[in-house]
Amino acid sequence: MSGHLVVVGAGIVGLSCAWEAQRRGWAVSIVDRDFEGDRASHGNAGGIAVSECVPLSLAGLGLKPLRWLLDPLGPLSVRPAHAPRLLPWFLALRKVAEPARFQRIARALATINDISLPAFEDMLADIGLQGDIHKRGALTVYETAAAFAQDAAEWALKRSLGVRWREVSASEIRSLEPALAPAFAAGVMLEDWAHIDDPMRVVQRLRETLQARGAVLVRGEVAAISAQGPAQATAQLASGGKVTGQRLLVAAGAWSARLSQGVGDKALLESERGYNTTLPESASMLGREVIFAERKFVATPLSVGLRIGGAAEFAGLDSAPNYQRSDALLQLARRYLPDLQEAGARRWMGNRPATPDSLPVIGPRPPTRAFFMPSAMGIWD
Ligand SMILES: Cc1cc2nc3c(=O)[nH]c(=O)nc-3n(C[C@H](O)[C@H](O)[C@H](O)COP(=O)(O)OP(=O)(O)OC[C@H]3O[C@@H](n4cnc5c(N)ncnc54)[C@H](O)[C@@H]3O)c2cc1C
Repeated sequence: MSGHLVVVGAGIVGLSCAWEAQRRGWAVSIVDRDFEGDRASHGNAGGIAVSECVPLSLAGLGLKPLRWLLDPLGPLSVRPAHAPRLLPWFLALRKVAEPARFQRIARALATINDISLPAFEDMLADIGLQGDIHKRGALTVYETAAAFAQDAAEWALKRSLGVRWREVSASEIRSLEPALAPAFAAGVMLEDWAHIDDPMRVVQRLRETLQARGAVLVRGEVAAISAQGPAQATAQLASGGKVTGQRLLVAAGAWSARLSQGVGDKALLESERGYNTTLPESASMLGREVIFAERKFVATPLSVGLRIGGAAEFAGLDSAPNYQRSDALLQLARRYLPDLQEAGARRWMGNRPATPDSLPVIGPRPPTRAFFMPSAMGIWD
């Protein structure tokens, strides 16, 4: 069928869905409160992390999460005021550790990953950005052989699901990435990982292309969504206007749950905030994305600079950013990349939409088939 689709949210997820809908003959209206504004799809690490199929889980971590939580600038933090609201999400996360469920989720993620890179490349080619993707893999580095050994089960699971990786020695790490300090005992080359030049450029070009092909961009805050039957749904704007179509797609990133809860959809979605710093003068320091396994951060050589980031902060959608987290990651990076050039450094925080089971929420949602929710989470950063 085709008709009129209303997309709420002009991040990478909403725009990609709008692109596909247009190809299938739908008329599309896209509603966003701030099309050019800052959002996860603009400032993320730019990794096309098709090797990441192992769900977030507390299994086998022992006391590590507690240690991370106690470190004020560690890789994981929960703002005390937000903790009670996080409880249902956290309880659902605990269930992921059940072996059958864990395996099922990993298989599902691997299946999604298999189709995402070719689909993304098709879209990039269509919008004239085929040169913006770099298929040079990613390098995971470990400071100790013991830490690498601790991850052995995860690497084995990935291989069993078709992820191509190979172990690399300390000397090969040095020859692959000479800018890295000689601090690494072991590494893993992930062959299929790719990265893009600049996530923001993809979002902008996609939006411009859609508009040139007839998509209507409606600027406004969506206050609520509603259905008037199985084939009519409306986005109600805070300003008083409304946008109506045969289908409504909620792609409001980490804000999606606020809208979908209003129509009784119980999808658990949290904002997992992340931080980074982009260093324009260090753009060509690395050949590929590097993942610092023990420290839980990454460095991606984007065209706009070397982007150093990571961290998972659960603080809700409205609390002020704590840019000391970006600084803490940069501090770590200085240790491993001694020649970093920091002039013009830009700090950033974004809200990742995160489900407790690591799976995106896709498909028709209750109470009527008029709503769709494609809010995908980032798989790795
Ligand atoms: C630090 C960091 C690093 C990351 N690195 C990577 C990576 O390397 N690779 C990867 O794949 N993913 C990565 N991610 C995750 C990725 O950025 C997100 O999963 C993705 O951008 C989410 O896109 P989205 O379209 O769902 O949401 P968003 O980009 O957040 O877009 C949602 C849009 O909805 C609009 N909106 C929300 N509510 C309303 C409303 N009520 N009315 C109107 N408009 C509304 C917002 O204005 C926004 O434009 C990273 C995330 C972070 C924070």
